[in-house]
Amino acid sequence: MMLNLKEDLHIHCNYNDHSSKDLTIANIINKSEDLDLERIAITEHVRKNSEWTKKYIEELNYYVPRTRIKMLKGFEAKILVNGEIDCPAEFLNDEYFIVASFHTKYNKEQWSEALIKAIENPNVDVIGHLAPEFDFKVDDNEIRNLAELVVANKKKIEINSKYIRPPKGFLKIFKEYGVEFHLGSDAHSINEIGDFNRIKDLINIIEQK
Ligand SMILES: [Zn+2]
Ligand SMILES: [Zn+2]
Repeated sequence: MMLNLKEDLHIHCNYNDHSSKDLTIANIINKSEDLDLERIAITEHVRKNSEWTKKYIEELNYYVPRTRIKMLKGFEAKILVNGEIDCPAEFLNDEYFIVASFHTKYNKEQWSEALIKAIENPNVDVIGHLAPEFDFKVDDNEIRNLAELVVANKKKIEINSKYIRPPKGFLKIFKEYGVEFHLGSDAHSINEIGDFNRIKDLINIIEQK
């Protein structure tokens, strides 16, 4: 399958304090237009108790009709140890693009069980920067089971250029099973938007026949 390099479906902004101050939604759109991107998703880190979401959605709604770029209104939400997604319930519907990612270190059993629930969650669109923790391995049979589950639940798997993930072993098996992929820069600053140079190897694995 071919990946659309004119698409970046994982971009942060300045609503939390972990990204560059100038990573405003307006600047993201200007930069994306300069790069001639076709589609972007702004996916700020959310938690169930985040207090900025109303203003964020209002600002996204303001820009959606004011740019030629197709804009998805999104959130990146943490996969909790019980497999729930750390996102306010009001955004868990078709209107919002939800990237579910691990941001806390779990042991293998916790990780596997939480991941299965996240993949089965109908409100999750994509699993972000998927990879096992450094202190456990996932064997090929386990990856095959995940691949089947991803396909059965019509989830996408993100190829993430910040963390250079998923690992190649995952990608090769996922590809065999017909898993669908898209690109995410995970940009925390303006210049990272749409930059996939660090993951050329991963892109080649997906695109080679
Ligand atoms: Zn993340
Ligand atoms: Zn992110």
